[in-house]
Amino acid sequence: MYSIKIESYFSSAHFLRDYRGKCEELHGHNWKVEVNVEAKKLDKAGMVLDFKDLKMKLNEILEKLDHKCLNHLAYFKKVNPTSENIAQYIYNSLKSEVKSLKLVTVWESHNSCASYYAG
Ligand SMILES: [Zn+2]
Repeated sequence: MYSIKIESYFSSAHFLRDYRGKCEELHGHNWKVEVNVEAKKLDKAGMVLDFKDLKMKLNEILEKLDHKCLNHLAYFKKVNPTSENIAQYIYNSLKSEVKSLKLVTVWESHNSCASYYAG
């Protein structure tokens, strides 16, 4: 198997419902997003996928989250905007365009992250 990974970033605010602790108050993160794509075979150019195309598709999704309060977005009015659910949101948004998408990881700090993949 071949595997590639890209990273991108966005900044946004959120607060958590049904949770007692610091994160129930409005606060912000500089989120790091990692996307892994796998393939058994490479394309004619010898790539899993062009990094440029993958970054463009990911950044179109992150653009909608950047400098927003996530709780105000329609999707996160119903779903708590935890790192886990943000990873799932990005995975599902990207999967329709990137069939060989494997894993999306969302870092909310330098030592805490959550990942989502179709098990
Ligand atoms: Zn937080």
